[in-house]
Formats: sequence, C-alpha cells, structure tokens
Amino acid sequence: MNDFSFDPLEPLPIRPEEEVEKEIWQPQWKCFCCQDTGKIQPYLVRHVIPGYNDNRDRLPICQNCNKGHDWFHLDEFGVIDTRLGPQICRKLDAIAREDWRRTTKSWFENVKQHLEQATGKIASTQNLRKRDRIQAEFILVQEKHGLARGDWEEIKDQEEDSDF
Ligand SMILES: [Zn+2]
Repeated sequence: MNDFSFDPLEPLPIRPEEEVEKEIWQPQWKCFCCQDTGKIQPYLVRHVIPGYNDNRDRLPICQNCNKGHDWFHLDEFGVIDTRLGPQICRKLDAIAREDWRRTTKSWFENVKQHLEQATGKIASTQNLRKRDRIQAEFILVQEKHGLARGDWEEIKDQEEDSDF
C-alpha cells in the first residue's frame, strides 16, 4: 500500500432505483437455489416437480446451503418437502446461476443499446446544429460577396397563405 491508496468505501446511492440496478449486477445472496431464504425458488422447483404449485404444495426446502435448516423443524407439520436433496439443490443452484448470467448479460446489452441510442441522438442533434451553423455562414458569405459585387438582392420569404 502506498501513500496514495485508500481503503475503499461503499457507495451511498441517493435514489433507490440504483439499488435495484446494483442487485442486478451483484446479487445479495450466496445461494442461488433459495436466494438465502431456505425455500427453493418455485420456478426452480418446477424443474423437478413439473406440476408444482407454490400455493397448494408442500414447501421444498433448500439443501444446498444451511438456510434450509431454519425450516426443517416444520417437517412434523407436513408443510415442507425435503425430497429435493443436496445433489438436486446443487444442480438447481447451477441452473439459477446460468439464468442469472444470461439475464445480466441481456440487461447489459439493453443498457448498452439504450446508451448507444441516446448518444446517437445527441450526436445527430449536434450535427444538426453544426449543419445549421454552416448553412447560416454560407448564406452570410454569399451575401457579403453579393454586396461587394453590387448584385445582391434580398429574396423575401414566400408569404404563407393567411387563411387561418
Ligand atoms: Zn439455499
């Protein structure tokens, strides 16, 4: 560490939507199978139990991380499903990670596209301004030349219909 290095600080976003963006970049959870809730994400459960209905069926508990243990005491009440063992949960975790990677990638591409569109718009408005300025300068130069030659005539704009 030299004299010009700093201990990094966490950014302090003012607007909450930046927090949402941060979550897309960088998930807050460690376990992708249950997002650290101990309950396997319903869409992942459906990979194993195709007809799974999270309003009706027993709650499949994550066995990929230790968060699932929080729910095991409910086993005797018959509200949890422990059939999705560690191997299955590890697989579901891998699937969720891949989904995440793809979502993040498409999100990146979206942002990139929006940025390009925005900068493209800015570039074209700047070009328009530049074009207008060049046209105005060109007219001014012609005017000067015309005045110098003594043959400059002001051409009036055509009058518009005054029906309205
Ligand atoms: Zn988990």
